[in-house]
Amino acid sequence: MRKHPSLSAGLRYKVLSFPPNFPLPPKAQEEAGTPTAVHSESYVLIGASNRFNSRLRLGMLPTADENASRTANFISAAEENEIWRIKDGESLLDFLEGALPQLPVRSILSSAEAHRFAESEGARFPPPQYSERFVDVLQGNECGVVLVGDALHAFPPDLGQGVNAGLEDIMKLRESLRRHGHDLANALPDFERNRRPDVKSLVRLMQVSHPLQYKQYKYLALLFQLKFIAQFLISKVSFGLIYRPPFLEVMNAEFTYSEILRRVERNCKRYQLGGYALGAASGLFFALRGRWLAAMACLLAPALLVALLFEKTPKEFELAD
Ligand SMILES: Cc1cc2nc3c(=O)[nH]c(=O)nc-3n(C[C@H](O)[C@H](O)[C@H](O)COP(=O)(O)OP(=O)(O)OC[C@H]3O[C@@H](n4cnc5c(N)ncnc54)[C@H](O)[C@@H]3O)c2cc1C
Repeated sequence: MRKHPSLSAGLRYKVLSFPPNFPLPPKAQEEAGTPTAVHSESYVLIGASNRFNSRLRLGMLPTADENASRTANFISAAEENEIWRIKDGESLLDFLEGALPQLPVRSILSSAEAHRFAESEGARFPPPQYSERFVDVLQGNECGVVLVGDALHAFPPDLGQGVNAGLEDIMKLRESLRRHGHDLANALPDFERNRRPDVKSLVRLMQVSHPLQYKQYKYLALLFQLKFIAQFLISKVSFGLIYRPPFLEVMNAEFTYSEILRRVERNCKRYQLGGYALGAASGLFFALRGRWLAAMACLLAPALLVALLFEKTPKEFELAD
């Protein structure tokens, strides 16, 4: 596997299971019009504390099965977060009662689940990674091995793409098998050749798209948030010159991961060109007024910003046009 750095790799997480119809807090009951959780809805349980070391946010995604338990990921960038120190179920229930005063925690969570969660070591997000070779044809044309899903590409859940990408691997494999009449010697290399650009692009997108959403570096996360909002707003008024942030683009099933990465790169180039054009125009403005120092600063500032803010795409992720 080829591993690549990411600002969210290594963060700790644990998963807490809620019963399917847990009671909603009174305010949410009013808004939702139901006293208990509904399987087709998403929920975010926000803890009372906003301190970095005791911050609690539990997100729950919808489930297809109305009787399935609701899993909530607890992810924290703070190694000192109180929850990591709790090792028994009783202390966990005490902690959650204080952290989530809006919920009758003890009547929702069984002590067995509290014990399981407290005793679990949890896990850490893997660095974005993929396998360069992922098919093999064995015994002539008799059988083959194919890696799909997390076995082929693993990464932190920044874009919520793990399951989608795995399902798409299967769809693409099926297309290759059909195209070659199930002749493995041709179908599997065809799958590998066609799927590789998207696998690589997906891994690159994980590095650059939204790794700071867990607030692990406060000020950098704030800058990232501002950049996200600015890019979203510019994309609305730039007549297609600037694309939406990749976090939103991945939700459009019509785009391949390669196409989204191309858009990210075009955005970078266009921001840079825009910066140089603005610098040149303001440089000219000051030069015409004889303010040579200001003119020089305007010409140099974009180059400095580009050098500081823009990372060149590693060769491995460059896409053929
Ligand atoms: C905290 C967190 C949040 C996430 N959020 C999202 C999200 O919002 N959206 C999203 O799309 N993805 C999300 N993901 C990623 C998603 O869970 C994975 O990408 C997806 O589950 C991968 O599916 P898979 O079938 O490839 O692998 P897995 O789900 O890991 O399945 C592999 C299976 O193989 C079994 N197995 C392993 N070894 C053996 C063996 N030797 N013999 C037999 N069986 C074996 C395992 O027990 C497991 O059941 C998240 C991941 C994490 C950790």
